[in-house]
Amino acid sequence: MSLLEIDNLSVGYGGQTAVDGVSFAIGAGESVGLVGESGSGKSQTALAVLGLLPATAEVRGSVRFAGEEILGATESALDALRATRIAMVFQDPMQALNPYRSIGSQLGRILAHHGLAAGSAARERVIAMLERVGLPDAQRQYRAYPHELSGGMRQRVMIASALLCEPELLIADEPTTALDVTVQAQILDLLEVLRQDTALLLITHDLGVIAGRCERMVVLDKGRVVEQGATRDVFEAPAHEHTRALLEAARGDRDISLEPPAPETCLDVSGARVEYTVAGRQRLSAVRGVDMDVRAGENVAIVGESGSGKSSFARGLLGLVPLREGRVRFRGAELPRDLDDRPRGQRAALQLVFQDAAASLNPQMRVADLVAEPLGIHRKNLDGDARRARVAAMLEKVGLGIEHLDRYPHELSGGQAQRVAIARALMLEPDVLVCDEAVAALDGTVRERILELLRRQQREGGFTIIFITHDLTVAREISHRVIVMYLGETVEQAATDDLFASPAHPYTKALLRAAPAPDPANPGGKTSVSGETPSPLQPPSGCAFHPRCPHARERCRDEAPQLREVGRSLVRCHFAEEL
Ligand code: SF4
Repeated sequence: MSLLEIDNLSVGYGGQTAVDGVSFAIGAGESVGLVGESGSGKSQTALAVLGLLPATAEVRGSVRFAGEEILGATESALDALRATRIAMVFQDPMQALNPYRSIGSQLGRILAHHGLAAGSAARERVIAMLERVGLPDAQRQYRAYPHELSGGMRQRVMIASALLCEPELLIADEPTTALDVTVQAQILDLLEVLRQDTALLLITHDLGVIAGRCERMVVLDKGRVVEQGATRDVFEAPAHEHTRALLEAARGDRDISLEPPAPETCLDVSGARVEYTVAGRQRLSAVRGVDMDVRAGENVAIVGESGSGKSSFARGLLGLVPLREGRVRFRGAELPRDLDDRPRGQRAALQLVFQDAAASLNPQMRVADLVAEPLGIHRKNLDGDARRARVAAMLEKVGLGIEHLDRYPHELSGGQAQRVAIARALMLEPDVLVCDEAVAALDGTVRERILELLRRQQREGGFTIIFITHDLTVAREISHRVIVMYLGETVEQAATDDLFASPAHPYTKALLRAAPAPDPANPGGKTSVSGETPSPLQPPSGCAFHPRCPHARERCRDEAPQLREVGRSLVRCHFAEEL
């Protein structure tokens, strides 16, 4: 008998099916990955296992844990199961933790509620668990409140609370999706080490996460299981078309063809510095003197984790936040620092596509008007017919049909909304398209289609793309050159092929090692740096990376390295040649 047996599970809401006849099992101590894109039914399946589906859910089938039926079980029976025998780690620990209670009090109450320990025994057990999940200074963190911890630390607390009662099954629902890639690797390592005999159901949209961590995998699409088997077998010979599409998207398109850039410089940024005032007085330096020289038709990816300053740099470049210091030249002419002071032609030449397309589109406008709007502002001489013709041609280019013309943003999928945002930005035939995490919120297969759309449009339009991303796979697919940022500075700049073949800076190496790869034989996702990016309010002395760098020496703490040529790259590290 398996530990967990899900048999023909269906979940629906008002006639809409979310889970459709799902069956799979997990043996004691086994690790199983549940993979699918958004809306595939993964989280609904997990909630059914925990007996957490809302009362409005129409549920059929069977979910048995150690032989006992969970569907329809009484609240007291479920309460006895949850935490002690089945525990869950959610994507967003802030939602799962009570903001008004200290960490110690929350974890202690779990033990007391289940009658496992109380008083000083509970305190000792909680502190021991906080130490095991790698929380530095566990005694102090025991008294801390959730908001005082970083995202990675909060996820460690979630894991501590899930494992506190030594459950037989741990369900982790996208436990690292909200985390930076270097922290993700730490958290996944931690889960692997600590779970020991606990079975694991790891729910994720990221096949790379599954590749290195799960013995078996189950692939969901539109609420149905389309394939399941040993992880290695599924990766080597995916039987279902949807699994193949997921794998192709995760591996990225290696056959990309980017036109070589022109020799002349299009955009030249020097000494860019962006600062914000925090709490009315403290000065936060988000970007600390970044240079960038981009040729016409060249794609530059700016890569970094949260706090790297990559988005602030893009905003400074576009004039959305004025640069504190430094200058931006476009085709040789210096651009005013503030967008409002830039002439219309210069504003039209630099366009931006945001991560959250749906939120950046006016919800009260139809697609046709949204795409036509930039023409109304910048090309007033066009008459109605010419404008309509341009809108229709552009929508076709971005792969939207005339049936979308009358839709409102909320009637579009994430991918369609992003196509509308790209259409709007391309309407004015810009010279530079700045994409700020433009595909980060999209599922893998949709992301690939949007990247292909951008490459195709670029071949036709010859514009330059500045692509801001935290995702190295994306950077590799879209860029000629990569700039890696850490804590407001460029730490490495190199041609894309060179950067991936021979990264020189320890941080770039850590990013590459930490990125999960969809290959069970070589799964990536390795931890090579500890901790998280420090606050830009208090950047470390010397080399900003030194508190996390495995190669840091005395000199690194005292002396800030300069960005300098090392081979064909620019690298900010004292010891790049010997590492
Ligand atoms: Fe690491 Fe020192 Fe190089 Fe900084 S300068 S990256 S701390 S070796």
